[in-house]
Amino acid sequence: MQEVKEVIVVGGGLAGLSSAMKLAEEGLKVKLVCLTKVRRSHSVCAQGGINIAVNKKNEDDSPLIHAFDTIKGGDFLANQPPILEMCLTAPSILNMLDRAGCPFNRTPEGTLDFRRFGGTLYHRTAFCGASTGQQLLYTLDEQVRRYEVKGLVEKFENHEFLRLVLDDDGIARGIVMHDIYNLNLEVLKADAVVIATGGCGVIFQKSTNSTFCTGAANGRLFKQGMKYANGEFIQIHPTAIPGQDKLRLISESSRGEGGRVWVYGDSSKSIEYPDGSSHPCGQTGEPWYFLEEMYPGFGNLVPRDIGAREILRICELGLGIDGGNQVYLDVSHLPREKQHKLEAVLDIYEKFTGTDPRKLPMKIFPAVHYTMGGAWVDWPAADDPDREARFRQMTNIQGCFNIGESDYQFHGANRLGANSLLSCIYSGLVTGVEIPKYFSSLKKQNCEMDESIFSKALEVEEKRQKELLENTGSENVHLLHDELADWMIKHVTVKRNNEDLQKTLDKIKEIKQRYKNIELSDKGKTLNQTYVFAHQFEAMIDLAEVITKGALLRDEFRGAHFKEGFDDRDDEKFLKTTIAEYDPQEPKISYEDVDMRHYDPVKRNYIVAKKSVPEIKNFPKNIKLPL
Ligand SMILES: Cc1cc2nc3c(=O)[nH]c(=O)nc-3n(C[C@H](O)[C@H](O)[C@H](O)COP(=O)(O)OP(=O)(O)OC[C@H]3O[C@@H](n4cnc5c(N)ncnc54)[C@H](O)[C@@H]3O)c2cc1C
Repeated sequence: MQEVKEVIVVGGGLAGLSSAMKLAEEGLKVKLVCLTKVRRSHSVCAQGGINIAVNKKNEDDSPLIHAFDTIKGGDFLANQPPILEMCLTAPSILNMLDRAGCPFNRTPEGTLDFRRFGGTLYHRTAFCGASTGQQLLYTLDEQVRRYEVKGLVEKFENHEFLRLVLDDDGIARGIVMHDIYNLNLEVLKADAVVIATGGCGVIFQKSTNSTFCTGAANGRLFKQGMKYANGEFIQIHPTAIPGQDKLRLISESSRGEGGRVWVYGDSSKSIEYPDGSSHPCGQTGEPWYFLEEMYPGFGNLVPRDIGAREILRICELGLGIDGGNQVYLDVSHLPREKQHKLEAVLDIYEKFTGTDPRKLPMKIFPAVHYTMGGAWVDWPAADDPDREARFRQMTNIQGCFNIGESDYQFHGANRLGANSLLSCIYSGLVTGVEIPKYFSSLKKQNCEMDESIFSKALEVEEKRQKELLENTGSENVHLLHDELADWMIKHVTVKRNNEDLQKTLDKIKEIKQRYKNIELSDKGKTLNQTYVFAHQFEAMIDLAEVITKGALLRDEFRGAHFKEGFDDRDDEKFLKTTIAEYDPQEPKISYEDVDMRHYDPVKRNYIVAKKSVPEIKNFPKNIKLPL
């Protein structure tokens, strides 16, 4: 028997690092596998901040209000107990990060500073200028390095997860990975695997995500039997810089600090406001701050799904800049000290457009940004009678956990800005509580397993590698990706309709067939990026199919999922989590009830600014937070 139990954590972003740190703190040995260098994980790009309700601005904010804002922001599609526990833990997470030396902004009095973000009326977002992700990632990386020095964490950077090793009972016992520099395949053994591999924006090709946010790890797990939930919910961020290579985010913090979205008005045109009334589109030739007029309560800080749809509507009316697909986001009127808090984002804008946004308004348009859907994970809540027999954040594959942007748990149909960094760190901490508990329930350890389960899994990947390198055919994987992404962007983003979704699903099936006919331009094993991408692309096609089929079947309008002809939320039929399961023909879709035990659903209304929040029902008696 092994004295020290081992866990594989796949992914070195905030979720993976938080998990690795907490597991090592619990005395477990962690093998940290990461496609990139840990410090280059996509979390490093996060800009605006992390939501934590500590009421430092004396606005009567509280974790319960934070929980309600999150549930309402997600259009009531998220299970409520995990959100409640996350928001209750948030203040301790802030203390932990502050103690670990994260350089949060402070007020002149020396207390932590907070800014406003979308979908809330409170200053609840702690921040480090506009490079919060980088500061948080480096802070957690330092903590993990402490455990690395003590021998409790071993890193495998530039290694990519390819498949789980499952024993005869379907329990996770390790992984197969390859070294992306030389494609050497290797098995790692452990008694639990935590997947923290982020979102899948690259399916849509141009997004605010990094180039390695392909979702391939989840796609591969899906094929191995992992359930994928709420795939159709993809967040479109209202404000990104259109670019040839990618779409760079201009953080919501720019509006949190007072930035305003506008276009030149045209009073000869009219538009319907959210309350159903019709209005002229501002005054001809004058700046028209359309979000402020349509949503006087929240103004420029409406949730992202609403902001993105309104910007698109304005551009469709021909009111975008020069009649095109861009509107202004203006911070040029802000005082110098406010602009200074946004320096990292403003520098990005200046670097990539050549225009100084401190002096002239920025030109922006919505972009694919965040994956609300992800691995289905369990959540036995504090008062559930079987709480001790089930494990939070565990997928339907025993021993395989999933956290951070790659799970579906915390954001429902639309994520509120600055809630992701919190959910990543929180879900990582939860694995530190659940995995030791899981280990005490486990009858056998991986060292008692027959070697054949590992060698068979390795053989599958060896065969796959040989086939992919030697395949001959007429298709180019990058052109296939362009084609897939083009369809996904056109038909599966801000506005959807059933006819185009069906055509997209047919197209994906065609691409799946044509993928079998790809030939790689590079057949070597050294630094073969085409091979790495071609391997990932197969899994991306499967996830594209899940996203599209989920959208096709969901005949309603909820959060980020807006479908023409279905103008309202349909709680009777669709207040349900979508569950996709792999099938070689087409993903099988079923639905699961949402856990609504704390708040009844209400219609989302961001027209008026109302601070009252309904009383929480069934507050758990046995709640135990991970910090
Ligand atoms: C530009 C931008 C700004 C943002 N700003 C904010 C913000 O201000 N506040 C907020 O709350 N959220 C923000 N977000 C969202 C937030 O940054 C992400 O949701 C979050 O950082 C995801 O963290 P993660 O740990 O789940 O995944 P990631 O940080 O994406 O990490 C994934 C890790 O998995 C590794 N990996 C991937 N696939 C494999 C594989 N097959 N094998 C091995 N390793 C693999 C990667 O190398 C990486 O280490 C922003 C997002 C963007 C795009």
